[in-house]
Amino acid sequence: MTFQLPDLPYDFSALVPHIDAMTMKLHYSKHHQSYVTNLNKALADMPLPATSLESLLKNVRQHGDAVRNHGGGHYNHTLFWTILSPERTQPSSVLTDAIQERFGSSERFREEFTTAAAGKFGAGWAWLYVDAHAQLNICTTSNQDNPLMDVVPSAHRGVPILGLDVWEHAYYLQYQNRRSDYITAFWEIVNWQEVEQRWQAAR
Ligand code: MN
Repeated sequence: MTFQLPDLPYDFSALVPHIDAMTMKLHYSKHHQSYVTNLNKALADMPLPATSLESLLKNVRQHGDAVRNHGGGHYNHTLFWTILSPERTQPSSVLTDAIQERFGSSERFREEFTTAAAGKFGAGWAWLYVDAHAQLNICTTSNQDNPLMDVVPSAHRGVPILGLDVWEHAYYLQYQNRRSDYITAFWEIVNWQEVEQRWQAAR
């Protein structure tokens, strides 16, 4: 079983001015590539039947830290590229209704997600995910963990539909220490059509 770096669905400069081309280039061709390479190295030493990345992550406790870190890194970045878009998009009315029902308002949802992402100490991710009761929730995870993983607290388990990388490598070239400016820019480039598809598939 070997994994490959997926094609980036847009050019390195497509998200300018929100994410600069050098950050995109390094993030995709160096960071993401190294997660793929190191995941494949880890799996080469493991007698596992061919399976999906999702099922590896759901049982990642038994596969060890290399699969957790690099498999998580591969999954998270693959998701991240797809939920960003050079075109400005809006959530559909049905997703907007679900967000309003769960969080009170769209603004309140953005505030809660932003606060979670800004407050995450050190390297990690902020997530909007669908829990076991088909409910939308927000959480953060450390390093390359995500809500699919059995190593994540059960209260934060589910299917991620929107994720924000808050590792410094995701923003430091352009924003230096200003993580909150990076998060503000993120809201300008969310691909809500992709989020919606992931939400519909996970409910
Ligand atoms: Mn990253």
